[in-house]
Amino acid sequence: MEDLYKVLGVSKNASQDEIKSAFRKLAKEYHPDMHKNEQDKKRAEEKFKEIAAAYKILSDPQQREKYDRFGFEGLKSSAGYDAGFDFDSIFNFDMDDIFPDFSDIFSDFFGFETKKGKGKTRKRKGSDIRYDIEIDFFEAVYGVKKVIEINRKETCQTCSGSGLKPGTKMKICSTCGGHGKVRQSQGFFSIVTTCPKCHGQGEIPEQVCQECKGEGVQNKKRKIEVNIPAGIENESYLKIENEGNEGSSGYKGDLYVVVFIKEHPFFKRQGEDVIVNLPITISQAVLGDEIEVPTIYGIEKIKISAGIQNGETITLKNKGFQKPYSYYKGSMHLVVNIEIPKNLNSKLKELFQEIKKIETEDYYQKIKDFNKIKGNLKKE
Ligand SMILES: [Zn+2]
Ligand SMILES: [Zn+2]
Repeated sequence: MEDLYKVLGVSKNASQDEIKSAFRKLAKEYHPDMHKNEQDKKRAEEKFKEIAAAYKILSDPQQREKYDRFGFEGLKSSAGYDAGFDFDSIFNFDMDDIFPDFSDIFSDFFGFETKKGKGKTRKRKGSDIRYDIEIDFFEAVYGVKKVIEINRKETCQTCSGSGLKPGTKMKICSTCGGHGKVRQSQGFFSIVTTCPKCHGQGEIPEQVCQECKGEGVQNKKRKIEVNIPAGIENESYLKIENEGNEGSSGYKGDLYVVVFIKEHPFFKRQGEDVIVNLPITISQAVLGDEIEVPTIYGIEKIKISAGIQNGETITLKNKGFQKPYSYYKGSMHLVVNIEIPKNLNSKLKELFQEIKKIETEDYYQKIKDFNKIKGNLKKE
């Protein structure tokens, strides 16, 4: 286990606020639901547990002090981590009792199942849904409306979410005796978990609803319209509130649509700006010119000034991407790339030979400087 401050990326004298905001940021980043591929998910989960463990300790002034003074040893003796430091045990704690802040944070961001209110009145929020969508480059330029189809859990029509066969009653859960929680002991340390049989409700149906097998929710296919704003960035997500899974008692999770944008062979994006290569001829560079160039919004006339250098940039304001939900637009940068002609015909070759004969270093500042250096050195 790494240093806890390092895990959260804060300094040893970070304030509680700093610790909290570092945790929020990291927890968001490593939330397993935000990772698509199985391996990423696993890795995120591991990291997530580490972050949560570090936060749990550093956010508690007493624990923090012990950790500062004695390191992990200090935590073992004080909190009863006698069997070593076990991250999994932190996750099995009753979040609400031991970690009130934790469930708050996740209800804010992700709609984790939170347990506001104790005992029999507790309600479960449905989980969030992630949906990945790929859009074209120009759909990202102008914004686009998409209709997606998702599978989600909704309250069972037959039992209205109670899980109870209509006309039957609830009875006290025998596993937890109606408490909704069970206590497990590990050495000196006991952990309170939600009762696995009644899921913390304290009671279970005499007879379960046939339609939903007592779950209170059923799978439903739904079409959702998604408004993707102009200028959206690759891999950003749109949160659509209350369109996720429905939990028991009607609390809904959210829908996260993660947007992937296809690349364009010519236009390269950098934040709100667009970068393109602008190939021009030697004569255009020497004499200047007026040409038409493609922008993401159509053709534009631009001026090439006489004497422009290779690698110089011509910037067109407001020809970049729009910042989503704002009026700001980035710029387009054309990077000059003077193309040297090959396989010249005899006429062109003749003309270049003519140029070569009459040009001197007076027309070429860089060559002049270069020759100066040569002149200052002794010949071998
Ligand atoms: Zn039902
Ligand atoms: Zn129970």
